[in-house]
Amino acid sequence: MILDDFVSFDEKGLYCKYGDFYIDPQLPVKTAVISHAHADHAISGNNNVYCTRATASIMQLRYDRTAAKVFNIAAFNQPFEVGRVTVTLIPAGHMLGSAQILMEYEGARYLYTGDYKLQPDATCEPIEWVTTDVLITESTFANPAVIHPDPVSEIRKINDIKSNILLGAYALGKSQRLINLITEHAPQKKILVHHKIMPINAIYEKMGFHPGKYQIYGRKLMKVQDEFVYIVPPFTFDSYIRATGVKRLFASGWKNLQVNNQDTLFISDHVDWNDILQTIANTKPKQVWTLHGKGEHLKAYFKDDIFVKILN
Ligand SMILES: [Zn+2]
Ligand SMILES: [Zn+2]
Repeated sequence: MILDDFVSFDEKGLYCKYGDFYIDPQLPVKTAVISHAHADHAISGNNNVYCTRATASIMQLRYDRTAAKVFNIAAFNQPFEVGRVTVTLIPAGHMLGSAQILMEYEGARYLYTGDYKLQPDATCEPIEWVTTDVLITESTFANPAVIHPDPVSEIRKINDIKSNILLGAYALGKSQRLINLITEHAPQKKILVHHKIMPINAIYEKMGFHPGKYQIYGRKLMKVQDEFVYIVPPFTFDSYIRATGVKRLFASGWKNLQVNNQDTLFISDHVDWNDILQTIANTKPKQVWTLHGKGEHLKAYFKDDIFVKILN
């Protein structure tokens, strides 16, 4: 039987009272199950954290001693108990170590997707499918108007750019995926990375995921026009707003983060509308509960077929 109150929001985040834990809490809690290491999901200061090894490594890099009191490292597809709930982490395909959180309680299955994507990405574990009674999905781009273009065609656009490129991207996940895509699909480009991205690359490599060919940025390197692509985090990208002699691009699924209407690079690590429909087809839920976004489109689309509840 599906319990309508299996998870609910309070001021600290999404809470499961049957297991007495929070999922990706927004404030420090006693027990947290964390889907992946992006800062909007993985905060510091929790007591007891359940997550994958990669997520723990990245949290330790970012937060050092305050990362968590105790890390309980869970391997993918290995069930464990939290309170009275059986929890299993399933690869989500979003970034290295990212997990969907399958929760089983009294015969019902609840699958929290976290952030996830279906597009191939050589820098993380590919998404895996399990069936569920309730799909608790992020719905950032759950709008029929949002269809992400093919990332390979997108990255190939940089082959036509002959000047050096300043490429803005989130340091964690997106930067490694871009290094990989450029190495594969624009191999003549020389990739330089900002120093803040280097320790993250090191964790990826330690876990056996080598993003590709790159070197650390040096001031003298970009003095000449020579197929350089310099990958920088958003803050640095914004501070170079008046940079001359470079083409500026920002890699994102969001229209409003693109530099302008001409210079676009639509590469997203989230599902688009078609991917969400595919996910629902694959996981076969009786109910869909939506988070972070646009649940109303799914509600209208499935009308009487699948019960859709907007959690937030
Ligand atoms: Zn994320
Ligand atoms: Zn997120």
